Amino acid sequence: MSMNTQGRITAPTKINYNVSKSFSGNKALEQATKLIFETGNFNKTGIDFPAAKGLEYRLGGLEQKKDIELPGLSEPEILRHYVRLSQKNYAIDLGVYPLGSCTMKHNPRLNEKIARLPGFADVHPLQPISTVQGALELMYELSNWLTKLCNMPAVALTPKAGAHGELCGMMTIRARLDADGNSHKRRVFVPESAHGTNPATAVQCGFFVDELPANDKGCIDMKVLRSKVNELGENNDIAGIMLTNPNTCGLFESEIIEISELIHSAGGYFYCDGANFNALVGRVRPGDLGVDAMHINLHKTFSTPHGGGGPGSGPTVLSEALKDFAPVPYVIKDKLGYYSLVEEIDEMSMGRLCAFHGQMGMYSRALSYLMSHGRDGLKQATEDAVLNANYILASLSDLMSPAYSGHCMHEVLFNDTFLKNTGIDTIDFAKAMIDEGYHPMTMYFPLVVHGAMLIEPTESESKYELDRFIHTMRGLAKKAKNGDVESFKSAPQYAPTKRLDETLAARKPILRYDA
Ligand SMILES: *Cc1c(COP(=O)(O)O)cnc(C)c1O
Repeated sequence: MSMNTQGRITAPTKINYNVSKSFSGNKALEQATKLIFETGNFNKTGIDFPAAKGLEYRLGGLEQKKDIELPGLSEPEILRHYVRLSQKNYAIDLGVYPLGSCTMKHNPRLNEKIARLPGFADVHPLQPISTVQGALELMYELSNWLTKLCNMPAVALTPKAGAHGELCGMMTIRARLDADGNSHKRRVFVPESAHGTNPATAVQCGFFVDELPANDKGCIDMKVLRSKVNELGENNDIAGIMLTNPNTCGLFESEIIEISELIHSAGGYFYCDGANFNALVGRVRPGDLGVDAMHINLHKTFSTPHGGGGPGSGPTVLSEALKDFAPVPYVIKDKLGYYSLVEEIDEMSMGRLCAFHGQMGMYSRALSYLMSHGRDGLKQATEDAVLNANYILASLSDLMSPAYSGHCMHEVLFNDTFLKNTGIDTIDFAKAMIDEGYHPMTMYFPLVVHGAMLIEPTESESKYELDRFIHTMRGLAKKAKNGDVESFKSAPQYAPTKRLDETLAARKPILRYDA
């Protein structure tokens, strides 16, 4: 199943499928996959049960009036359908997935084993507290690990993704400002290189965004920030800053201490976007930098599967100044070692972010990852992630064009200068990577870099895999410089579908199947 240029979902067989005229539509052992509606039959196996006799609806006229009309398929048909689809999907378990900022790293299978233990996997949020002591202990332990690694006094576990963690942090900051009678403080500084969720969150929480430009080293232009803060003076409207560190250019914000002091001196709070925490774990504690709130993407830094592979989880650590405003629920432990949940919203707490207690499956995977690595192993993983990125940088910088000089952190950023006058763009280069069996890197982000290509190898990749990847990238870069425009413009050649109009498909999706 895929989208064609009108954004309509169609069977790949209807698109130019690149099959060299087989009778079946299959290509060698690769099976053509039709839409499930075309394979299935409404009259075949039954999932639409006839209405039970004597049934009385209590839905006030909102009940289902006709059959659900899901296609009926036999068990092997349905299994094959989804297994085939899964094989069309690229995954970290298949190959290198260098998607910068997203941190696609290996999920050790030990995590899966732990997450499947019935005491963690089969608990219900409404079970009596006495029957879920182990699960609560796990959440308590996870909180301990996260607050220790960050040197922060508290963490809200419930946010269900990074962006949700940002919401948590910014709502907490707002609750503190309002409690102090500072409701006029609504200005939030956001660097222009920020992830889109940062300004979106600020606005969602009733703040307004004041954009900070970057300097030629890819970090915040301090002259601008200093003058903005000083200009506004005593009775200013500064609520805080939202800053990613390392930033989205893969660079450590070298002036972060001064930034933090400036914001605090203006009576504001420092929100750190912690999506790149995997470059710091065990080496730098955000609390030592003056951070007041930071979300941690368990699904990035602590290896729990995400994207097509699973949900997210964005625990948010909070400073002394903010911890009393944290959302409920959270786990506490009494002197006898008995765990319970604080559910009451007192007058300080900013409220509640989700119905129950968050993503239990992510908690167990993350704690399993943390405990199996240990303090030294986590530090090693961080160092290896940074080493791997710098290895790629060093191996490609003669042929491709690094966006900034010097070392990078856990991801390496190139611009499209090396493609200048070739007629080939970043997108063409990325599509050619698909033909080479690699998921493309992050493209055109961050926006401050022209034709950006952001590569994050993570620590999971061996030197063998990195060398293969580097060999491929070097080959493509040379081919581009040799002016082989046609092969780039027509890439991907080997993918079942070619270039889709992704914008149209996203803006005007036609998700209804019309027979
Ligand atoms: C991934 C990411 C986010 C958002 O996290 P989600 O879990 O996708 O909501 C925010 N900021 C940065 C820098 C990120 O890389």
